[in-house]
Amino acid sequence: MPFGRCPEGEQADISLANTTIELIIGCMFSGKTTELIRRIEALAPSTGIATLKPAIDDRYSPTHIVTHNRQTAAAQTVQNARAILDLVGDAEVVAIDEIHFFDDAIVEVCQELAQRGMRVICTGLDLDMWGDVFPHVEKLRRIAETTVLTAECKACGRPANRTHRTVPLLDNNLVGGPEEFEPRCEQCFAPPAAPKPAGATGLAQPPD
Ligand SMILES: [Zn+2]
Repeated sequence: MPFGRCPEGEQADISLANTTIELIIGCMFSGKTTELIRRIEALAPSTGIATLKPAIDDRYSPTHIVTHNRQTAAAQTVQNARAILDLVGDAEVVAIDEIHFFDDAIVEVCQELAQRGMRVICTGLDLDMWGDVFPHVEKLRRIAETTVLTAECKACGRPANRTHRTVPLLDNNLVGGPEEFEPRCEQCFAPPAAPKPAGATGLAQPPD
């Protein structure tokens, strides 16, 4: 399916049974990774935890998940969603940061982990910089216990749920930080003038 709004009726193939998936969503700078780290730190020290992030997200650290305020937790990078299944071992808790960067298989991967009895905690953007949903995040949202976070709109101060690009989009490197993006409310948000690159389903696609 091309990028864009997730059509209705796609949830038919998603099993609702045996899932213990927690999803933390919101725009950039809404504190998603901070909340993920908070949930990890609340676990008993003896808890087996696998913390994972997509290989494409190397903005700050290749071996840690890092919030924009530089909080960190050790993390393994993975090339694609299916690789997660080989890395988690017998972890009791699997924390996955930035799931919007993964491919569509992340939905089944999270379900399989939950069916193994693992507690799965994911973070991700729900909307890309064009204001379109990430289809796989939307699918996960339908089966997960979802927490929706907001930031403060940089333009007007109201609650923000959009990620607004502040500089022109000149190439296909869609990953960025505070130099390229800021939180905006729906009224102050505008998508980039440039069309979404062909094949992109969101901010970027990880290598498969
Ligand atoms: Zn605003």
